[in-house]
Amino acid sequence: MSGAVPEPLANALIAGLPRAEQRSLLAACNPVDLVPGNLLCQPGSPLRDACFPLSGCIALATSVGAHPPLDMALVGSEGMLGLSLALGVGGGEPMLGIVKCPGQALRMPAARFRRELAANPRLARAVHRQLLALLAQLARTAACNSFHEVQARLARWLLMLHDRAHADHFHMTHELLADMLGVQRSAVTIAAGAMQRARVISYSRGEIQVLHRRGLEALSCECYRDSRPPPTRR
Ligand SMILES: [Zn+2]
Repeated sequence: MSGAVPEPLANALIAGLPRAEQRSLLAACNPVDLVPGNLLCQPGSPLRDACFPLSGCIALATSVGAHPPLDMALVGSEGMLGLSLALGVGGGEPMLGIVKCPGQALRMPAARFRRELAANPRLARAVHRQLLALLAQLARTAACNSFHEVQARLARWLLMLHDRAHADHFHMTHELLADMLGVQRSAVTIAAGAMQRARVISYSRGEIQVLHRRGLEALSCECYRDSRPPPTRR
């Protein structure tokens, strides 16, 4: 492990559970580093572990032909990777799970997670709520990609990354952002350049700093506001 491990309740899904259910869940978890570029799951391969990010974030992406994987949703400390385990039908996640921002997570073997779900109705409800939110996020991303301009889409994804980075700066090159949006790098350079001139963000050697969060929100399409993670409820 690198750096200090955030406390387990940094994950909102776990934090929203009653204490006894938190204890049962945490007893079967092991800490793991989230390393950018690491592939945590892919379509067709059974998912070996459920993963609860404490910091950093994971993109759920889909591949089409020779194109780079297109990011469809982000998972950070608000949720988990492995929601498909709640469906009980096997087959693994339907998308690639790729670490985008470094951080730490708690990992639990898939079989144990299924047992926890069966024994723990509060956990099952929380996971189902996350699954519904993920479906909404996926639908919104598909619509956003069709209807909205690159700058508005870029602002949305920067806000989503900002939310999950828990810091005003994060590492993300123009190339990674272009792959994320499914556009040419030059389109990201133009959109990000306009944001820099407006002093909404700064960018240097792959480090993005959010200078004016409200300004970034004003540049985003409504898709950011409409597909934020659900509030955690016990
Ligand atoms: Zn949009």
